[in-house]
Amino acid sequence: MSAKFKAACITGGAGFIGAHLARRLLKQNISVCVLDNLSVGRIENVPPEARFVHGDILNPGDCARALEGCDVLFHLAARVAIRASFEFVVEDTLCNVTGTATVLRAAAQTGSVRKVVSASSMAVYGDNARALPIPETRPATPISPYGISKLALEQLTHRLAAVAGMESVALRLFNTYGPGQRLSPYVGVITIFTNALRAGTSPTIFGDGLQVRDFVHVQDVVSGFVQAMESPVTGETINIGTGAPQTVLEVFDLLARELASDIPPTHVGAVPGELRYAIASIEKAKYLLGYEPKYDFRKSVPGVVAEIIGHATESL
Ligand code: NAD
Repeated sequence: MSAKFKAACITGGAGFIGAHLARRLLKQNISVCVLDNLSVGRIENVPPEARFVHGDILNPGDCARALEGCDVLFHLAARVAIRASFEFVVEDTLCNVTGTATVLRAAAQTGSVRKVVSASSMAVYGDNARALPIPETRPATPISPYGISKLALEQLTHRLAAVAGMESVALRLFNTYGPGQRLSPYVGVITIFTNALRAGTSPTIFGDGLQVRDFVHVQDVVSGFVQAMESPVTGETINIGTGAPQTVLEVFDLLARELASDIPPTHVGAVPGELRYAIASIEKAKYLLGYEPKYDFRKSVPGVVAEIIGHATESL
C-alpha cells in the first residue's frame, strides 16, 4: 500500500456527498480543500476546518489553487440531473467532461497528487432487462447524456491518471440518500416525496412507480470513497450501492406511513433516460475495497425524514 494520504482536494465538496466526505476525512486527520462554484452546493456545508476555494473545475487556475499541496483528489463536482441532461446537454457535457479533463490535468501538473477517486454513476449502465444486480462487467451503454458524460469521466480519470503516474478509482454510485440532501426537482426522491406530503400535495411518480432502485446511505458511500483512497487498487471502476432493491412505490408507501399521510401519488408518463431496474452488484467493492454497507434503508428512513422536516436526529 502507498504511504498514507495527508491532504485531500474535494471538488464539489460543498454539495451533498462531498460535504459528508470532507467531514469524514477531517476526522481521519486528513486536511481538506474544497473546490466548489456554489452553483448547487452551499458554503454552510463546508466544514470550518477546511480550506475553501470558490471556483470552477473548468478554470485551470482555480483547480491549481485548490490542489496546491494535496496528495489525493476526490472529484465529485458535476451537474447531476439525469432527466434535465437532455435539455442541458451542452452545459452538462462541458461541466462533466471538459471539467473532469481540466481538473485531472491540473492534478497531474501538481506532481504531488498520487491518487484520484472520481464519482461516476449507475447511469452509465443501459437499461437492465430484469431486477437483478448489475455487475461492472455489464457493457456500459448509457441512455442519458448524463450517463454518457459519466462514462467519459471514468475513462478520462483512468487514462489521464495512468499517463501521469497517479492511481485512479472511479466509483459508480447508486441512489444516494441521507441528511443534507438538497431539494431539487431532479434528485433526491425521498426529499421530494417528504416535502410534498408535508405540504399536503400529491407527489409525482414518473411511470408506474415499479422502477427499481438501490438506495445507499451517504455514510456508506463516503466509506466507499475512503476505502478507494486507502486501498492499493488502481485503474478500477467499482459499483457502490447495497444490492437491495426498492421500488419507487415502496419508498412512497414507507414515507406516507412515516408521515401518517393518506395522500395518494400522482402518476405521470415515464421519462426518457431513466432506468427501469438499477440495482448494484457490490461483489467487486467487497472484494477489492472491503466495502460493506452498514445502513439498512427501511431503518434509516425515519431519521432522514426527521432531518428533512427540521427535527434533525442526524446532521452533517
Ligand atoms: P450535488 O449537486 O449536491 O454536489 C455537486 C457539487 O458540485 C455542488 O456543490 C455544485 O455546486 C458543485 N459544482 C457543480 N458544477 C461545478 C463546477 N463547474 N465547478 C465547481 N463546482 C461545481 O451532488 P451530489 O449528490 O453530492 O453528487 C456528487 C457526485 O456524485 C456527482 O458527481 C454526482 O454525479 C455523483 N452521483 C451522485 C448520486 C446521488 O444519488 N446523489 C448518484 C450517482 C452519482
